[in-house]
Amino acid sequence: MDIHEYQAKELLAKQGIRLPRGALAYSPEQAAYRASEIGGTAWVVKAQIHSGARGKAGGIILCRSEKEVEDAADKLLGARLVTHQTGERGKLVSRLYIEETVQIDREIYLGFVLDRKEERIMIVASGSGGMEIEEIAENEPDSIVRQVVDPGVGMLPFQARELAFGLGLDGALIGKACQAIMGSYRVFRDHDAAMLEINPLVVSHDEIYALDCKMSFDENAVFRRPEIMELRDKSQEDPRETFASDRGLSYVGLEGNIGCIINGAGLAMATLDMIKIAGGEPANFLDIGGGASPERVAKSFRAVLQDRKVEVILVNIFAGINRCDWVAEGVVKALEEVGVGVPLVVRLSGTKVEEGRAILKERAPSVIVADTLKDAAEKAVAARKGAESTVAAQ
Ligand code: GDP
Ligand code: MN
Repeated sequence: MDIHEYQAKELLAKQGIRLPRGALAYSPEQAAYRASEIGGTAWVVKAQIHSGARGKAGGIILCRSEKEVEDAADKLLGARLVTHQTGERGKLVSRLYIEETVQIDREIYLGFVLDRKEERIMIVASGSGGMEIEEIAENEPDSIVRQVVDPGVGMLPFQARELAFGLGLDGALIGKACQAIMGSYRVFRDHDAAMLEINPLVVSHDEIYALDCKMSFDENAVFRRPEIMELRDKSQEDPRETFASDRGLSYVGLEGNIGCIINGAGLAMATLDMIKIAGGEPANFLDIGGGASPERVAKSFRAVLQDRKVEVILVNIFAGINRCDWVAEGVVKALEEVGVGVPLVVRLSGTKVEEGRAILKERAPSVIVADTLKDAAEKAVAARKGAESTVAAQ
């Protein structure tokens, strides 16, 4: 789960990190008014979307009058900004952050990430931050400095100092950079973040400012952090995933056209592989979990069918705690109440499989029944090709 730049900056401010003065705006008039409140003679109008690389995509506009702020806001609000991180649909801009400009003497990159493999917090910094950080990481790997923090011990002040020295800072800036680094670490740790990135952290005269900040959180852990959950902006998320998560379903959106309803993430992975081997492309997968009721199964169809790209649905259940008869009841319910409208392949195995198959045979004769995982994947791919050729023939 990502949060907006302005929200991340509020968290940084609480730890005493210096930020340019800024305010949020939802309309061009409000943007101009915010600029007048902030004062000064130049401002940056910043599109608040869940993506980096906004600068290169035209989402950060430098303005020299209140009129320019208003025009920039008018241009950005309501537009979909396409960055190299958003995919081609881009993300809708519905909030702007208006900020005073800060003279940039140096741009620094500072990032905190959770390294799952090492079970440590990795801190990465570079003296050449800014919008070209990816190229710098590739072409000048020596300019990158690192520290590893043991979460049991926490970040120690000497580690912040080593980073500051590694960045080539000197004099009073070292102490100020250390404060910014330690403060950022506390923000990362106190809110259980998975990632915190300040790019750029700038040197301006004799001060250090965070000009940008991105944070993301592990969705499975945010229930522990209601203050972070409140910052969620569903309009920035994949609408298919939001629909499912609002209904307590675990869903992953993909790019193909075969919708998958499966129990368990492991079986889901295997099923996606089998679909690919059979020459198909999965549109998504939805995990119904254990002990799924007929209602839950029917609800899953609704979530999978939210995706207009779905041309075939494949249900693959290996029932242990689940019951095939309940799943079959759910399939019948979906056909009756949701209206499935695309070919449906069902493979059932495990607990109450005979009962499940009997229900399908009797009450859902349109279902294509499969015996094995391989059979199911092949039938789903064939059903999709069949649907395609019917369309072509019409
Ligand atoms: P991003 O492209 O999504 O990472 O957005 P940023 O907030 O990092 O803005 C992109 C770039 O705009 C920064 O790397 C800065 O070079 C520039 N920028 C942002 N704020 C200011 C500012 O107050 N003054 C000036 N001169 N440049 C700024
Ligand atoms: Mn940035």
